[in-house]
Amino acid sequence: MASGGANYRNGTQRNSLKGTTTATDRQLSMNSNPSKAALKNKSLSSVGASSGLRKSSPGSLGGGTAKDDAGVPGRVRVAVRLRPRNAEESVADADFADCVELQPEFKRLKLRKNNWDTDTYEFDEVLTEFASQKRVYEIVAKPVVESVLDGYNGTVMAYGQTGTGKTYTLGRLGEEDTADRGIIVRAMEDILADVSLESDSVSVSYLQLYMESLQDLLDPTNDNISIVEDPKSGDVSLPGATLVEIRDQQSFLELLQLGEAHRYAANTRLNTESSRSHALLMVHVKRSVKGRELAHSSQNGNSTNMAKSLRPTLVRKGKLVVVDLAGSERIDKSGSEGHTLEEAKSINLSLSALGKCINALAENSAHVPVRDSKLTRLLRDSFGGTARTSLVITIGPSPRHRGETTSTIMFGQRAMKVENMLKLKEEFDYKSLARKLDIQLDKLIMEHERKQKAFEEEIERITTDTQNQISEAERNYADAMEKERLKYQKDYMESIKKLEEKWMMNQHKLGERKDQMASTAEEVAELQKLLSKETSLRKAAEEEVNNLKSQLAQLKMSEASANSEILKLRKMLEDEAYRKEKLEGEISMLQTQLLQLSFEADETRRRLDRGGPGKVPGGLDSLISQVRPQVNDSVNEEKASIANLFEQVGLQKILSLLEAEDADVRIHAVKVVANLAAEESNQQKIVEAGGLTSLLLLLGSSEDETIHRVAAGAIANLAMNETNQELIMSEGGIRLLSITAANAEDPQTLRMVAGAIANLCGNDKLQNKLRGEGGIKALLGMVKCGHPDVLAQVARGIANFAKCESRASAQGSKTGRSLLIEDGALPWIVQNANNDASPIRRHIELAVCHLAQHEVNARDMITGGALWELVRISQDCSREDIRTLAHRTLTSSPTFLAELRRLRIDY
Ligand code: ADP
Ligand code: MG
Repeated sequence: MASGGANYRNGTQRNSLKGTTTATDRQLSMNSNPSKAALKNKSLSSVGASSGLRKSSPGSLGGGTAKDDAGVPGRVRVAVRLRPRNAEESVADADFADCVELQPEFKRLKLRKNNWDTDTYEFDEVLTEFASQKRVYEIVAKPVVESVLDGYNGTVMAYGQTGTGKTYTLGRLGEEDTADRGIIVRAMEDILADVSLESDSVSVSYLQLYMESLQDLLDPTNDNISIVEDPKSGDVSLPGATLVEIRDQQSFLELLQLGEAHRYAANTRLNTESSRSHALLMVHVKRSVKGRELAHSSQNGNSTNMAKSLRPTLVRKGKLVVVDLAGSERIDKSGSEGHTLEEAKSINLSLSALGKCINALAENSAHVPVRDSKLTRLLRDSFGGTARTSLVITIGPSPRHRGETTSTIMFGQRAMKVENMLKLKEEFDYKSLARKLDIQLDKLIMEHERKQKAFEEEIERITTDTQNQISEAERNYADAMEKERLKYQKDYMESIKKLEEKWMMNQHKLGERKDQMASTAEEVAELQKLLSKETSLRKAAEEEVNNLKSQLAQLKMSEASANSEILKLRKMLEDEAYRKEKLEGEISMLQTQLLQLSFEADETRRRLDRGGPGKVPGGLDSLISQVRPQVNDSVNEEKASIANLFEQVGLQKILSLLEAEDADVRIHAVKVVANLAAEESNQQKIVEAGGLTSLLLLLGSSEDETIHRVAAGAIANLAMNETNQELIMSEGGIRLLSITAANAEDPQTLRMVAGAIANLCGNDKLQNKLRGEGGIKALLGMVKCGHPDVLAQVARGIANFAKCESRASAQGSKTGRSLLIEDGALPWIVQNANNDASPIRRHIELAVCHLAQHEVNARDMITGGALWELVRISQDCSREDIRTLAHRTLTSSPTFLAELRRLRIDY
């Protein structure tokens, strides 16, 4: 019984059914070296045992014996893998059963022919849609990789319809989830783990085969690589292909990505899809084998020890070829997708040649046409001898592709060289249990692999952390030890010195006493004892004193630094307090000044309003006169006090308050600025100090209606000056005013905005820009408010604009229809030309006259009904100058005169 990677169903058993030996087997055994074959089988069964994967039950078809495996070492092993339903199939095939049913426990696949009939096929391994990538690798590729490491050639191929998972099975990099890694990545991991980088080498080539031309995916300029076959050994090589030596997994992954990018670029250039080409990865493994090892593995039992030690180092070469074949559907559908038959043949040549070779091998044919295509020439050394070849056929579940799935299964069957099995009628009630367990097992395998990876990373991290901590602690410990040692040495030396001194002194005294009292030796001994006691006491005392002294010094030092810190902080605190006090004083002064100022300003306005609108006709200057103080005594006083404040507080400071945090302060400040702006003599100073810019900014940033009204009024006043008009335009004033108008509810705000735009309308140079930025539209938009003050300003703006246009046309700098007409002002003009309110009427009448002076406008004026207004103005207008102007305009226009004649009106 074999397990995991080695449990392919064996050929001997199969052959015994037919009672003959197949050509495949014959050919294989002809080419194979019995000792190598035996070695390989040994290694394969050991792989199976160590992989710890699930084992087939002894009774199952897949469960072979050691003898079975030894029987056909080179037989192509075939596994079938079913792709799960994809999103599209889950929807489109929701009401249909899958076209196949897998019985992995019996290694069988049932292909549904219709609702009541199925065909059953047997494979070396049946991989359900739940099979993990790890298990697929271990079953399909691991035995092949093991034998490559042992010095044989190995091939892993994936065959199947496009979209069934060939590339998923072979080529997944698994960068996001390690459990997703495909066969190629896992194979290289196993190879790198097994070889020694000092003595062995691993190198790869990566190629694409398309329309019988072999392209180097590692060097796109190299696109016609030739295949060289050694006539003696039968070895196939590609001397022209780039070979890159691999030292670590990361550089291999980068190489694969590079190859993939080149493949994409090449396919874009050739206008093909990768599903039409074959991708081939070749891994060359060279290992040096020590004499002893070689002798051991050669199974030559009688080599002497001497012979063993004399053996030179040998190199063992193995080649792994991984082939992601072109989509199998091309065989049946050649000629589709706009290819000529020749092209289609060429695209599929290699794949059909592969099929023919497989058939020939399976049918025991005398001639195997390996030379028919590049692919079969390349794979020549994969089909026999000591090579180990694995084929994974991939299928999808959809009943819509039953045809493709059937042909894929048949290909796999031929590759295995088995006939369809008898239909199985019996059902097994433990089938579903086994299936469930299978799914669980695969999930667990995936989970385990993920966890193990995470666990290993965690362990590695903890190990480095701990090592760092240990070495840090060791360093600290060594430092402390050294310091301690030095200190003790010093203390020791000092006490020795002192003892010596004392000893000398006592000796001296002793001598004296000896002389004087001639005391006995006992007394001397007594004294000596006393002396040593004293010495030790003294030493202890001295140590104590030293200790205390150093403590004292430390305490003093820290106290001194704390004191200076406190002093510094206290000083800072005082400074801060002083500064705060000063600022508070300044703020309160400013606030009182502001309050006073705004009070005065409100007063002024109230007084102005009382004598203001109504009396003053809505002429060009009306707005100014409404906002600007009239000259009388009390106003003169106001002016004086404002001017006073202006000087006291400083313009800059007032302007800076426009950006104050406090909304009230901002409102007061804008009122003050508006009052200052009403005075012509202040205007230039305000603009120079950036006041106009600040007002525009405020208009854009504030949500407050009062601020909008007052700021717009101030801007309107500043907009009387030509330079300021240009500045307003260049700072996006029209846009800001339009937005303000659109959001305003208060007619007074609208009046201010309209007044500002009306002033801008009177600038000859700004006509086009103003219109381009929506100035005229904004004006017209405001008429829906209906308030006569607003309408008067709109009318004034239109009159101003018409006047400028008329001037420009007369000078020849403007041609074409009036922009007012272009922007749809005419209906409103006609409607209000005879408005009851005289400020509105007067401006519109003027506008009509200006428009009428240009023949280009005449047609529109006639269709819009403006001709009748012109006739009325020329007859009824209370102002004689306008009446005359209208009359003159009318009689000098051929279009108007012709229209009057057409209507038989005598004029
Ligand atoms: P092929 O190479 O045969 O044309 P792909 O490998 O590109 O097919 O697979 C087609 C699609 O199906 C891809 O989106 C792939 O991720 C998905 N797929 C294939 N096999 C599986 C599988 N076993 N499990 C999940 N998704 C799969
Ligand atoms: Mg693919």
